[in-house]
Amino acid sequence: MPTKFGEFTLHAYKSLVDAEPHLALCCGGIGERDDKGATIVHNEPVLVRVHSECLTGDIFSSMRCDCGQQLNDAMYMIQAEGKGAVVYLRQEGRGIGLHNKLKAYSLQDQGLDTVEANIELGFPPDKRDYGIGAQILRDLGLRKLRVLTNNPKKVNRLEVYGLQIVEQVPIQVPPNEANRSYLRTKKEKLGHLLDET
Ligand SMILES: [Zn+2]
Repeated sequence: MPTKFGEFTLHAYKSLVDAEPHLALCCGGIGERDDKGATIVHNEPVLVRVHSECLTGDIFSSMRCDCGQQLNDAMYMIQAEGKGAVVYLRQEGRGIGLHNKLKAYSLQDQGLDTVEANIELGFPPDKRDYGIGAQILRDLGLRKLRVLTNNPKKVNRLEVYGLQIVEQVPIQVPPNEANRSYLRTKKEKLGHLLDET
């Protein structure tokens, strides 16, 4: 698939527990198979982003969050590197789904922060699961990862299935007036490593 950042090979993964297919956008030979159909294993560290779907940010360029910009930055950085993968997981709204995310936005407009709004709706602050993302990375032939994220918890949760995280690479979007308090909550309540909020 040609993109404005460069060309990616797309792989779709069907999971037994999720309705929508997860995607891997790869470049530089990641995910390729040999003549016998076996995955080519990469023992060197590879730059990856495990991105959870955010329809409002990724598609409609919402400025309530930093997701769309992070996705674009990750695609750009991986192409600049010449090799890597973006794994796109279909877990909208930190795992609570689009409809509930919009309800949470409505509560945030009434003064709750993103964590309080999820709890008010009966959900944990972050319901995302990275196990499937780790399995996809392993299936792509990856073993050592340089992970594009500001979220230390994501790093811990990806270190399964024989994957080793050798570096956490920051991916920071400058805050705007619409997402500043959201980013501050991610930093203060969810432990994200953000400089400028
Ligand atoms: Zn978002």
